[in-house]
Amino acid sequence: TQPLFEMIDVDVAFHLKDGSYKALDGISLEIEPNEIVGIVGESGCGKSLTSLTMMNLLHRTSERTAGTMRLKGNVLDEQTDWHQIRGNEMAMIFQEPMTALNPLMTIGKQMTESLKQHTNLSKIERQEKAYAVMREVGLSRVETLYRSYPHELSGGMRQRVVIAMALINEPDLIIADEPTTALDVTIQAQILHVFKSVMTKRQSSLVFISHDLGVIKEICDRVIVMYAGRIIETGTVEDVFSQPKHPYTKGLLQAIPTYSKRGTPLYTIPGTVPPLQDRKNGCLFVDRCGERMPQCIVDRPFTTGEHGHYASCHLMYEEDGVNAVDSTRKCP
Ligand code: SF4
Ligand code: MG
Repeated sequence: TQPLFEMIDVDVAFHLKDGSYKALDGISLEIEPNEIVGIVGESGCGKSLTSLTMMNLLHRTSERTAGTMRLKGNVLDEQTDWHQIRGNEMAMIFQEPMTALNPLMTIGKQMTESLKQHTNLSKIERQEKAYAVMREVGLSRVETLYRSYPHELSGGMRQRVVIAMALINEPDLIIADEPTTALDVTIQAQILHVFKSVMTKRQSSLVFISHDLGVIKEICDRVIVMYAGRIIETGTVEDVFSQPKHPYTKGLLQAIPTYSKRGTPLYTIPGTVPPLQDRKNGCLFVDRCGERMPQCIVDRPFTTGEHGHYASCHLMYEEDGVNAVDSTRKCP
C-alpha cells in the first residue's frame, strides 16, 4: 500500500546570528494509513520541528534545505496549496490549548470556522457537525458548550474542544504535539483514550509527539526515537519496548517511572543533548554513551536492522552481522 505521508532525507536548517545549523539531519519516515505513530525524545531533539516541517509551519529562522515530502504520493513543496492541505487533509494539535483558541470567540464559532472555509455546508449543518464531533470526543451538554467562551471551560474540556476542531474536517492525518502534558494525569489518560478510539474508528492516522514513553506505549502502534535532530531508532512499540537496540533508547526506557521502581530515585541519562553549534560527524550520543568505541567519535552510524526495527548505532553492525550495506540513513 502507498504510505499516507512520507519524509525522505529531510534536512532543516536554523539560521542563527553566527551561522546556519542543521537542526534536522536526514529525517526519513513513513506514516501508513490508519496507524498511530509516536515520536519520542528529550526536548531539543527535533520532535516539534519535525511536526512543523510536516505541516509547512516552520518559522522564518528555519528552513527545509533538503529532502522530499509526499502526501498520498503527491510531492509537498512551495507550490502546494497548504491552506487546502491543512484545512482538509492534515491537522495539528498543539500542547497548550489556549494558544489554539481565540478567547474572544465562542467555541461554536471557532469550531465551524474551517467548515465555513472548506465545505458548502449550511449554518445548521455546520452546527450539527460540531455537536457530533464534540460528542465523539466525549463532551456533553454540547449545545451549551457551543455558545460558551474558552475561559468558561476546564483545561480538559478545552483540550477536547481543540481535538474536536482538528477532527471536524475529517483529516487523514493529525499531528499532536504533547497534546495533554499540561493536564492532570487522570484527565490526560481519559483524553488519550478517547483520542485513540476516535482515530481508530475513523481509520485515520495520528502522529503523536511526546517526551513520555509511558504515554507512547499506551497509545501508539509504532515509535520513532529522535536524538539531536536525527532518528536513531524506529520500530513497533512492542519491539522497541521489549528489545531496544540503541543505547539512548535503552536509557529512556530505564527512565520510565514504574510501580516497582517507586521509592528509588528515577534514572536519568547523564549529560544533555549537544547544542546545535556542536553537532559533529560521528554519533551525537557519544558523550553520554556507556558503550562508546573510538569509531563512534568520527563515524556517523548508518541505520540498519530488519523486520521494521531499525537503529543507528555502531554496535548494531556486529550484532546483526550486517556489513556496511549503504548509508541511506533510511528508516522505512
Ligand atoms: Fe554509543 Fe557508539 Fe552506538 Fe553512539 S554509535 S550509541 S556512541 S555505541
Ligand atoms: Mg517540543
